[in-house]
Amino acid sequence: MAEKRTATKVAEGVTLIKGIDFECCIWLVEGTESALLIDTGLGIGDLRAEVEELTKLPYRVVNTHGHGDHSGGNYAFDCVYMHEAAAPCADIAMEMTGMVASPEELAAIRKRMEEKPTERRFIREGDVFDLGGRKLEVIETPGHTPGDVTLYDRVNGLLFSGDCMLKAMDVLLVVPQTVSVECYARSMHKLTALEGVKGFCSGHDQCVMPRSFLQDCADCADEILDGTADCSEVESGLPDGEKYCMRAVHGDAAIMYRSYKIR
Ligand SMILES: [Zn+2]
Repeated sequence: MAEKRTATKVAEGVTLIKGIDFECCIWLVEGTESALLIDTGLGIGDLRAEVEELTKLPYRVVNTHGHGDHSGGNYAFDCVYMHEAAAPCADIAMEMTGMVASPEELAAIRKRMEEKPTERRFIREGDVFDLGGRKLEVIETPGHTPGDVTLYDRVNGLLFSGDCMLKAMDVLLVVPQTVSVECYARSMHKLTALEGVKGFCSGHDQCVMPRSFLQDCADCADEILDGTADCSEVESGLPDGEKYCMRAVHGDAAIMYRSYKIR
């Protein structure tokens, strides 16, 4: 692996830790008293040491959802917060890690997981991470998977949205865990109804994204539901055995979905 993770400050108290390979964007959010690490990537290298270089504050760790490119590094931390519905997915995170780790690395990770299991604490709608001077509120946003959460920093108008809204790649409502387009649209309506959103930090875009993109995702989902979407059949590119799926576009947003998983 040639790449290494790099850290970039993108806003006051918000650092992007750019991942390795297809790893997610990892976000470190700092308040005056403590910090929150949002997602843990694939579990390659020593993320914990990298985080502890970046902040001297005590910090907690949360997963936006359970996919292995977001939760594969959980094993390095004593305790990780996630939605209960994200747990089954996080249980099999090593399947993704195994796509990039060497057999030796993978064996070392599994050994560590057995010797020192990471505690899981479940979060739900309305829970708040108070970091001092900034609070991150948990908003349940199922769709991509049943356990997706978005974290809202209301004071700064910033959402941390995992794989709910993405521009670097299409929104994937075609993974085995996807609930339905209808469920996703409901989640997007929750986000568009929030007051004061200025932008969002997604799980794969390496910058703060504009609020307008959130509306594009919501409108795109609505159009799939009411049958007016600008859509076509495409190759999903996913290793799940189903080669083709549907792809709808609206403005800057694109959603991949299955015609039998709309409602
Ligand atoms: Zn995902």
